[in-house]
Order: sequence, then structure tokens, then C-alpha cells
Amino acid sequence: MKNFYKYEKISFLSSSRIKAVQEKLLHEHVMYCKNNSPFYQRLFKGHKINPGKINLSNLCDISFTDKADIENSNDEFMAVKIEKIVDVVLSSGTTGKPTKIAYTESDLRRLAYNEEKSFLNCGFTPRDTVLLTCTLDRCFVAGLAYFLGVRAVGATAIRNGLSSLESHAQVIRSMRPTAIVGVPSFLRKLGGFLAENKSIPKTPVVSKLVCIGEPLRMANLKLLKVGSDLEKIWGAKVYSTYSSSEIVTTFCECTAQSGGHLHSDLAIVEIVDDSGNVLGPGEIGEVVVTPLGIEGMPLIRFKTGDVSFIIDTPCKCGRNSIRLGPIVGRKKQMMKVKGTTIYPQAIYSALEEIEGVREYYIAVTNESELSDMVEVHLALNNPGRAPEEIENKLQSKLRIKPKVLIRDEKIIREQIYNPKFRKPIRFIDRRKP
Ligand SMILES: [Zn+2]
Repeated sequence: MKNFYKYEKISFLSSSRIKAVQEKLLHEHVMYCKNNSPFYQRLFKGHKINPGKINLSNLCDISFTDKADIENSNDEFMAVKIEKIVDVVLSSGTTGKPTKIAYTESDLRRLAYNEEKSFLNCGFTPRDTVLLTCTLDRCFVAGLAYFLGVRAVGATAIRNGLSSLESHAQVIRSMRPTAIVGVPSFLRKLGGFLAENKSIPKTPVVSKLVCIGEPLRMANLKLLKVGSDLEKIWGAKVYSTYSSSEIVTTFCECTAQSGGHLHSDLAIVEIVDDSGNVLGPGEIGEVVVTPLGIEGMPLIRFKTGDVSFIIDTPCKCGRNSIRLGPIVGRKKQMMKVKGTTIYPQAIYSALEEIEGVREYYIAVTNESELSDMVEVHLALNNPGRAPEEIENKLQSKLRIKPKVLIRDEKIIREQIYNPKFRKPIRFIDRRKP
């Protein structure tokens, strides 16, 4: 069994020593793929790659792996016999058909170590009691990862999962957690519910909110409205965290709250442009991750489909590992409006700041070959307001002026919360390729 704690303190080493450890771990990872992964055996052969010669500077010679590859060749990614698999997670594929990600015992230990390091980044100790508001079942990885992480830190987990506001309020009142893991918009609802029902304990003890699934910050690292609302409502610090079932490596903010640190002994991260060229720190592009030390379904240069940038300036916490900035958007959701590039996330953030907006979704169609047409469908507290007023407010916050359509809240909610999908749908892409 692998000893993941061998490089436990890697983030505090100098950049050059971090790089030396990464070279060694990358070599081991690529050789493992060569010896065990049918997909990479075929890829190396087809592209005439000598895996023994791969290092950090020529890693880019290996072509990317994306969700479609995993979807099309799911079983070929399996690098172990079935008897070594202990857990299977389903990830939504490109066509909505779920793909399997299989973990071995060693992969789950790695996952625990990864999440332990993330929790330690934001100051967790064994004295913490952590309320988990994400599901542990339904073949999702997040809840399991956080539970394993809490356990590895030695803190106490309250696995209340996807429960009602009433249920969480009761748990908070009786068990007094010091930290909560959940989706920012839900935690804001929960905080509001507790305040209305006067059920926040007299001395609030929640000091940390670990936020998943939605961004907390703008590209300049300032908090979005949801982030500052959370800090105000809860009187707690918010920490953003990013991961996926494929990369099984978490980028979690530290107490300095300025980007998610890479666990350098667990992954290599690159940012690439549309043509696949590797970009430098601060440049915005697609996040590509090579998770190290994976046994079940190892990946090389996995294209996450998420867009962000790398921060390589020193961090106040003393760690020298590079950080990943906030996720700007999903690559395939990028819109071009009269020469301006924009992601739905920027529109969501602007809508969040407009008083009286209750629910919303975005629909995009082609206006011309070069420009998209963006419609914002929304429900308001006061439906009598003129769409132009909202359009002007959006224009002042964005560099585009989307068309606003004010609709009935029930209709908007039916569109967003479709039981056919695992997640709320706020983006409808009607563009023809
Ligand atoms: Zn830091």
C-alpha cells in the first residue's frame, strides 16, 4: 500500500524542491500507466511516445484526455482487475450518459489524505465538528471525500446530507457544529432560515464554511455577493474548494483565502488555450490536471472543461505550492457577444447583486456566425418592474447587454429544477455548432 504521507509537508518546500518531487512522482505515474492502463498503452504506441522519457517539461507531448475519451473507452481506462475496485462513482458525461470512475482501496486512502490536507489548509483541527450537507450516496464522490477527510483530520462528522432546512437547523441547534461543508447558495438559505427562526445558538460556533460547487470569488479574488452574504449571516470565514470525480484532487483555499492550493504531491496542473498550448501564470484558460498516484483509473492531462488561471505569487500562509484561481466558467458555455467573451457565471454574479431577483436562467442562441444572443429569464419579487431597468443594471456590471424576460417564478423554477438532471440547470444552450 502506498504511503501518501511521505511528502506531507511538500507545500512548504522551496519551488525547486517541489518540482524535484513532482518529477519523480510523474515518472512513476506515467510508467504505471504504461504498465497497467490499456488506454494509455494504446495512446503511447499510436503517438510513438516513450513513457520513460516523459518529464515536467515534455509532458505536453502527450495528448489530452477528455470526458469523451472516458465515455467512449470507459473500460480501457481500468488499470486494475475488478477484485481491486472498492467503490464506483458516476460522473455525468458529455452526452449526459454517466461514466464510471472506479476507485481502489489505495485510491480511497489517497482521497482521504487529499481532503485531510485541504481541511488542514483552512485550519481544521480534531476539535472541529463538521456538518456535511452534501450527499454520501447516489454514486457521488463529494460527500464521501469530505467524510473521509473529516475522519482523517480526527474531527467529528455530522452526515446530515441533502436534508431539509428544518432538519439541518435542528442538527445545528443540538450538535453545534463548528464548520459546515455545502453549496454556497444553499448555505445562504440555511443561514437565513436559522435567523428567521431565531434558532442560531446564542453564541454562534460555526467559524468555517467550506463551499463547493459554486464560485465564491471573482477573478480578482474579491468575494462575490454570495460569499460576503455568507460571512455576514454566519459570522464565519468562507473557503472555496474545487475538485471532480476524475481528478480526485482538491484545490482548497488556505486561511489566507487567496486561491486554492495545489497538493503538489497529488497532481500536476496546467492551464491551456483553445489550441492546447500551455499558458503562464495569470493567463485564463482550461484547467488540465494529471492526478498522481492513482491506481484504479489513472489519467494523464485530463481536460476538466473548467476555466481558470494559476497564481504563483507567494502565499501569506507560507505554502509554496501554486494556487488555482476561482473557476471563471465551463469552457463549452463560453459565449461571444459582439466580440466580447463572457461566461454564464459572470451573468449569475451580476444578477445576484440586483435587489429583488428571485430565480433566473440563461438561454443562448446564435445571432450570427460570430455573435451569440443571450436571454436572461428571471422572476422578480415585484414582477411589475420594467425589463429595461434590469437590462441597464446588467449592462453596467457586464460588458454586454443581454435581453431580459420577466416570467412567472413557477415556470422559471420548473426549468431550473428538472428532476431528470442531477444538478439545477441555469444555462440552456440553443446554439447550433
Ligand atoms: Zn496559502
